[in-house]
Amino acid sequence: MSTHPTTDTPRGEAAGSGAGPAGPGPGSGGIGTGPGGSGTGPGAARRGPDGLPAHLQHFIDGRLRDSAAGGVFEVLDPVSNQVYATAAAGQAEDVDAAVAAAARAFAEGPWPRMAARARARVLNRVADLVEARDARLAELETFDTGLPITQALGQAQRAAENFRFFADVIVAQADHAYQVPGRQLNYVNRRPVGVAGLITPWNTPFMLESWKLAPALAAGCTVVLKPAEFTPLSASLWAEIFTEAGLPEGVFNLVHGIGEEAGAALVAHPGTRLISFTGETTTGQIIFREAATHLKGLSMELGGKSPVVVFADADLDSAIDSALFGVFSLNGERCTAGSRILVQREVYDGFVERFAARARDIVVGDPADPRTEVGALVHPEHYARVMDYVEIGRGEGRLVAGGARPPHLPEGNYLAPTVFADVPPTARIFQEEIFGPVVAITPFADEDEALRLANGVRYGLAAYVWTADLTRGHRMAHAIEAGMVWLNSHNVRDLRTPFGGVKASGLGHEGGHRSIDFYTEEQAVHVTLGPVHPPRFGARAARAADS
Ligand code: NAD
Repeated sequence: MSTHPTTDTPRGEAAGSGAGPAGPGPGSGGIGTGPGGSGTGPGAARRGPDGLPAHLQHFIDGRLRDSAAGGVFEVLDPVSNQVYATAAAGQAEDVDAAVAAAARAFAEGPWPRMAARARARVLNRVADLVEARDARLAELETFDTGLPITQALGQAQRAAENFRFFADVIVAQADHAYQVPGRQLNYVNRRPVGVAGLITPWNTPFMLESWKLAPALAAGCTVVLKPAEFTPLSASLWAEIFTEAGLPEGVFNLVHGIGEEAGAALVAHPGTRLISFTGETTTGQIIFREAATHLKGLSMELGGKSPVVVFADADLDSAIDSALFGVFSLNGERCTAGSRILVQREVYDGFVERFAARARDIVVGDPADPRTEVGALVHPEHYARVMDYVEIGRGEGRLVAGGARPPHLPEGNYLAPTVFADVPPTARIFQEEIFGPVVAITPFADEDEALRLANGVRYGLAAYVWTADLTRGHRMAHAIEAGMVWLNSHNVRDLRTPFGGVKASGLGHEGGHRSIDFYTEEQAVHVTLGPVHPPRFGARAARAADS
């Protein structure tokens, strides 16, 4: 996209030309119904999970359907880079149909009017159904995204946890009442905003979709989800899960498609009152501009270039373990990745040596192999972008690990975990989000310099601080410009805490009650308790006329 270091390749180059779907016809697609395996999809893809669909459809008003105009786009798997399926390419008219269904379900259907407990029951059923699909989700997600299977396993558990959590939050939701004794009672009538447009990225797609779906549905909104075009496979599971859980028709709608077409149409649609977006900062800026026309509510979870600050007194073993996992897990395609490691000079050389040695030993391979620690990057377009950064990095820092495709993996989007040391803060690999298994290490002298380096980028999503001096640790945490800080702590998150970034990393925070605040509006209702005493306009003139 626009942060591509050398070329400006348009997203969705594989977009279909408008020809009809190559897979099963309208109404017959969906997860688990298509033929799986080599040679059964539109291209000669490698063997995938059993029941791999050859075609993915929208889900609108409780029905699977193709685009009105019949357009499709092609979906690749990141190991063979072959087309394994087509997906319906949503256009404005498909988004219209989905928003209309969601608007009808909101205006006329039971969902927004149900007691919180009744909605929570459905959400808990969703959680059970999601959890029961952990293995299936893992194999689909691994095939579609290139995430190592061991890291894809558990994503369904986390997605299920989001539904359980928001089921609990909505039942426990309490709103304020304010009394002026004897005169007035004022209370907050909290109500769902309406139709929410949810736009999600391709890294851990199913789990990230659950972050938006769970609070939006808990709040009583109806939704249209537009998943990322690189990884549309797992999103189709939602249709069957919500149907089985008893979610009323039209409450959940799914429109596949290219961002600049289906995503843009969802943002521009006057019927979507809210847009919750996770993705690149540049895309967020476009959406922000487009949403201004209709003054939509926006939640923006954007890119990051998060620092890991390691002081000389830190527990280096834990810092190294956590920093390695932080930047190389999920193939480095992680928004909170600690992709800049700042290390105090006294321990710098030893840290770099140990970190690089461990990085060289990371197992890169087939995502479906449980021994794999780093799999294949999501798409050849993204792979090219990451490889461009590696080339740029060669001129900006000292390459101490990786830097190339592992020799045993001649095909697929593989990159050996790549470590650049001695990277100056002016370097592009220090400043720009790469979103792959590439890390920049930079030395610092003291706390002041560490802080300057940590804050010296446009992003502010996460930060990690390692020090035995807790006073300094808190001081650093408070001074770092980041929405979330982990102090001597690995990246794990309590669902009640705020999630979000500052600066170019986002607008607004989600998590816990903040998510419910986003999907609801608080209406103030004022009730007089005693006699009403309004000023009596017009009464004086009438009295004068009488006398
Ligand atoms: P992206 O911005 O390219 O795409 C995200 C989504 O937006 C996709 O569904 C895409 O189709 C859609 N889109 C693209 N152009 C659009 C437009 N003009 N109008 C409407 N929708 C449009 O991001 P990506 O490459 O899919 O994801 C990677 C990015 O996401 C990284 O920058 C990463 O840091 C960020 N991310 C952030 C968080 C967070 O919580 N802060 C979490 C995960 C990923």
